Amino acid sequence: HEKLNVVGIPIDNLKREKFLNLVYQELEQKQKNIFIVTANPEIIMNAKKSSSYREALLQADFIIPDGTGIIKASNILGHPLQEKITGYDLVHTFLSYASENRKSVYFYGAKEGIAVEAITKAKELYPNLQVAGTKNGYAGLGKEVAEEIASAKPDFVFVGLGAPLQEKWIASYRHLFPHSVLMGVGGSFDVLSG
Ligand code: UDP
Repeated sequence: HEKLNVVGIPIDNLKREKFLNLVYQELEQKQKNIFIVTANPEIIMNAKKSSSYREALLQADFIIPDGTGIIKASNILGHPLQEKITGYDLVHTFLSYASENRKSVYFYGAKEGIAVEAITKAKELYPNLQVAGTKNGYAGLGKEVAEEIASAKPDFVFVGLGAPLQEKWIASYRHLFPHSVLMGVGGSFDVLSG
């Protein structure tokens, strides 16, 4: 499918349904993991400043336009993106899919206690949700934590460490998650828990 280059970052130009079908297909086939970035203007500007962050982003399988800023930029560039897919909406869409398809989820990030509260809310909304685990985002960001999360074999790994930490973390440790969908979710656990 087509990609639009926004300051050096290739944004996928996909309709929401098409994107979701591609992700679910990969998830069911269990051939590889899937790294999704929801790119907002903050992420794009970070990538422009930092080459290590840009390299992490370029490892993503999908870079989805999050927010009207990116859509406006694409219009100005004369190459309109088809649809905005916000990160927080996507979290709910994946939680709903997980609940209906017996897929497990892991919430990693935010302050002590927040991910647990967010999971409680998620289970109220999506009763059949299988929880692989939770971990706060201030207990070290290294290999040990990554291995602990991987040992729970989650189908969806939501990483709420904020940009640029979350994308760098996923790029570094995705190899420990051979069949998972991994996605940076910013402050989504704070929103969901509150
Ligand atoms: N965070 C974390 N560990 C850190 C730094 C941040 O878990 O070392 C969490 C923070 O508690 C918050 C999220 O990352 O839940 C970042 O939220 P923010 O609103 O800044 O992210 P955005 O949605 O703007 O990307």
